[in-house]
Amino acid sequence: MGRKKRDLSHLLPFCYYCDKTFENEIILHQHQKARHFTCEKCQKKFSTADLIKSHLHQSHNENLQKVPNSQADRSSIELKIFGMQGVPRPFIEERQKSKAKEYWDKIISEKNQKLKKEQKLKEKEQKKKQKAQKQTVEVEEKVQEQEKKAEENFDMTGFSFGFGLDLNAGQESKKDNFKPSNVFGFE
Ligand SMILES: [Zn+2]
Ligand SMILES: [Zn+2]
Repeated sequence: MGRKKRDLSHLLPFCYYCDKTFENEIILHQHQKARHFTCEKCQKKFSTADLIKSHLHQSHNENLQKVPNSQADRSSIELKIFGMQGVPRPFIEERQKSKAKEYWDKIISEKNQKLKKEQKLKEKEQKKKQKAQKQTVEVEEKVQEQEKKAEENFDMTGFSFGFGLDLNAGQESKKDNFKPSNVFGFE
């Protein structure tokens, strides 16, 4: 995985009126002319807000109240803005601060999420291990049980074997009692 490119858009030139960012101030000013300083009546483009205001007044007898297509709180025609020129310094600083905060908050929350994910994975691994250990113990117990059973069976075999011997011994003794004289009637 390649290293993520840092988002430094909060340091790029931005349009005061709509907050869009641009690669450089030339493109920014082109945007302002096309988006904010174009006369809707005759499509003429101007360089600043006061130029389009006086054009509307002179050519179309209109009184422009606010900069076209601007955010409500940034629509003032009083400011002489040209690219980044004329944007109030405190405004730029505030914006940079809040954008930088947004940027770092995002990075921090991404890092936290990654840590959480790793923690979860660790716990899963641990559970797996515990389960495997439990199974091993169970298998060992089963083996022991079987060994015990086998021993018991062996004992029983030993017993029956012994009993068998006894039987034989009994037969042996019966054989001892079997004397031809008993059958043929003589000693
Ligand atoms: Zn704009
Ligand atoms: Zn016009």
